[in-house]
Order: sequence, then structure tokens, then C-alpha cells
Amino acid sequence: MHVLKDIAPARQWVRQEQRSGRTVGLVPTMGALHRGHLSLVEAARARCSSVAVTIFVNPTQFGPQEDLAAYPRPLQADLAACEKAGVDAVFAPDVETMYPGGVFTRVHVATLTDGLCGPHRPGHFDGVATVVAKLFQILPADAAFFGEKDYQQLRVVQQLVRDLNIPVEVVGCPTVREPDGLAMSSRNAYLVPAQRAQAACLYQALNRACTRAAGGVRRAAELIDGIRGDILAAGPAGIDYVEIVDAVTLEPLTAVNRAARICLAVRIGGCRLIDNVAVDMPAGPI
Ligand code: AMP
Repeated sequence: MHVLKDIAPARQWVRQEQRSGRTVGLVPTMGALHRGHLSLVEAARARCSSVAVTIFVNPTQFGPQEDLAAYPRPLQADLAACEKAGVDAVFAPDVETMYPGGVFTRVHVATLTDGLCGPHRPGHFDGVATVVAKLFQILPADAAFFGEKDYQQLRVVQQLVRDLNIPVEVVGCPTVREPDGLAMSSRNAYLVPAQRAQAACLYQALNRACTRAAGGVRRAAELIDGIRGDILAAGPAGIDYVEIVDAVTLEPLTAVNRAARICLAVRIGGCRLIDNVAVDMPAGPI
């Protein structure tokens, strides 16, 4: 496995693979790898002949009050996990390599970033869009793999690639969960045991709403109230938002009458958790 720290060798590695007739799959991460990340590696291995993982805790996507300093950085364990998963190359640059002398150019994807996490994390999606655009320049892969766990991010990256004509296929991959349903996240490590047990309520609440929708409840407000109630019944939590949005445009819906996504962000203890599920249009007349 190649461990690349600099831009020129990273680009050269991708070009060499492609010249040799191999397709390259890219899996961008911030490290602290778990089974969710490794599922993206598996998806990349299934579709491409070579796989590159990037590990970079991107400072431009963290707000000033957020957990940039505390974010886990177990690089040696991550490299071992990549090696074991059959990754061919890891790109793990430092901040100065990615942003020499600072940040002068920022990429902004409009509209999709107006709602959901956008207002709660000002500048976050600009940071994501900027670093992903840079990674696509540095590692011009054939396909790139992103988790549905970060559904808004996935939509932002799809839009970015379309708008900037970046020749990469963006592949969305299903959320990998703990046995109790909690979506795997590097940030789950911040939860103490009681909070960790409580956190299972998020997926349970989402699932209950899906069941209610399938049973004919279409009014978004009613479904959202149910989710909020279920979450607050499980223990103290700060709900940033619970929303039902169009699965493509991310515009809030008042009724589940097309392909939709229920998205939420909830703070338990000091830990901000996000999750989402697809909710299908229930059968029958509106
Ligand atoms: P992160 O390291 O948190 O920036 O995540 C890197 C990539 O892994 C993103 O595309 C995430 O959506 C994806 N990811 C994170 N957690 C999960 C999960 N539980 N299941 C599937 N993909 C995930």
C-alpha cells in the first residue's frame, strides 16, 4: 500500500494506474476509520480496480466552536485498517500541503446548503465542497464513494461535480449502523455509556416515522412531532432540526408525496449526531 503525503506523487499514482488500464475509486475521509468508512472501500473495490483512501481532518469545514482540535487522529490504526481492507494507496496530507499559506479560494454550492445542517454550521459545506473539489483535482479518480449517512453532503458533492464538470462518478453508499441502529460515526466515541445507549433513539424514532408514513400518515408536521417526542422521551437532548425534505432538492415538504428523506441533527451531551432515512410515498390517495 502506498502512503502518499504530497500532491505530485498522489496525482502521479492515479495517472499511472489509469495508464496501466486500471480504474481508480476514491474514498475521501477524515480518518478514525470505522466499518462505515470500510463499506465505502468495499464498494470502491467492487467497482474499480484500484482504491485510494484520503485521510485529512479538513480544518475549513469546522466552525470556530467545533471539535477540530479534539477530532480523533489515529493515523497508524487507520493505515493498518486500510492495508487490511486491500486499499492500494492512502493520501494523508498535512494542512500546509492542502492550504499552503492559507485559504484563498472557496467553493460554494448554493441552495442545497440553505437548509438542514447549513444554518447550524455556517461555512461547513463551503469547506466540504472546497476540499472535495481539491481532492478531485489531486486524485482524478474514475469514481468517488460517499456515505448516505451525510446525505446533504452527498447531494452537495453530486451538485458540485455536475456544476464544475468534474469527470468523476459520485456513488452514494448506504449507512452502516451499530447493532442497536445508531449510525456509525467517528464522533460516537465522544458519547459516555449512558449517552451512547440514549443515542439509539434517533434511528428508532426515524424508523417509527417510516412505519407511520407507510401506514398512511403523510403530514410532515405530524411525523416530525412524533420523532421529536420519541427523541425527547429517551432523555435530555438538543434537537437542532428534524425535517422531511425532497430527496433530490432537499426542500422541506409539508406532505410525504414524493421520494423524501427524513433528516435530523441532535445534540446528546456535547456530541452532535446526524442521521437520515429514505421515506417512500405511502400508497393510496392524498
Ligand atoms: P468522515 O470521515 O466522517 O468525513 O466520513 C467520510 C465518508 O464516510 C463520508 O462519505 C461519510 O458519509 C462516510 N460515512 C461516515 N459514516 C458512515 C456510515 N456509518 N455509513 C456509511 N458511510 C459513512
